[in-house]
Amino acid sequence: MLLTRRGFIRQAALAAGGVMAGASGLTGFSGTARAASQLIVSATTGMIADTASVIGGNLVSVSALMGPGVDPHGYRQTRSDIVAMARADLVLRHGLYLEAQMEAFFEDLSRKGKVVAVADTIDPSLLLSHEDYPGRYDPHVWMDPELWKTVSTTIASALKTAQPDQAEGIEERLAAFTDELDALDAYSRQVLGSVPENARVLVTAHDAFSYFGRAYGFEVLGIQGISTESEAGLARIAELVDTLVERKIGAVFVESSVPDRNMKALIEGAAAKGHKVAIGGELFSDAMGQSGTYEGTYLGMIDHNVTTIAAALGGTVPDRGRLGQLQAAG
Ligand SMILES: [Zn+2]
Repeated sequence: MLLTRRGFIRQAALAAGGVMAGASGLTGFSGTARAASQLIVSATTGMIADTASVIGGNLVSVSALMGPGVDPHGYRQTRSDIVAMARADLVLRHGLYLEAQMEAFFEDLSRKGKVVAVADTIDPSLLLSHEDYPGRYDPHVWMDPELWKTVSTTIASALKTAQPDQAEGIEERLAAFTDELDALDAYSRQVLGSVPENARVLVTAHDAFSYFGRAYGFEVLGIQGISTESEAGLARIAELVDTLVERKIGAVFVESSVPDRNMKALIEGAAAKGHKVAIGGELFSDAMGQSGTYEGTYLGMIDHNVTTIAAALGGTVPDRGRLGQLQAAG
């Protein structure tokens, strides 16, 4: 949807004689084309960019610094990112120390007053902490659509501040998106609730799913800690192998933005103890699917995760997910 929307904006701007900035390739930062009054928004993650794009509609031209498969914990701004953010009318970042390698850069940029950390507005009492992350909160709030509503509202507020005359349309699109988040949450409860209770254990590459686990009653075990920057130790893998064998957990999940070498060690370790574990599928943890696909939108990303998890752990799921739009469910 993001690409389609951008493509549309780009075509419209070209037809109107608009100027296109150069695309910078791998990072997913496409050139921005602006119609006369269009707001140029630069977002760090795809989840933020997609949400801003949906809520902003045709009034905004949004691009993401981090494309599909990009790990935000280790990402550093490129030269073209810096140029893009300098040119943008509004910069949306996640906050909660997700963009750990860009903290100093954003501190500097926020003095110029156009940076909004969209997850920082969530009530701290709703945030989770983590033993690996003393003094900080778990940043993976997009995994719970209920929390993403707050982020969406913050994004809408930032867009309204930048374009006060467009407030009405922004409000309307926010309301429609909020309805979609509610429907996504209801769907998630339904399909995840069909997973047998003793199978509600999610084993993934890193600890990105704690908010998911809290929202839907799953125990979540990550091989790595909360940031992908930490290395998983042999002791941690051995401990997880024992858990898989003892509790007869039949599936583990790889992540699109984290290398899966540790998953192989888990599966081989369990096999050596006579317990067969399958890869339950690939989940989108910290980045969305390919641009221009349903999985490349926030709603599609979560639908994919929820449907894949429920199907692999013995739940009942509709063919191709909530809206029948997934490329391959389960
Ligand atoms: Zn993460």
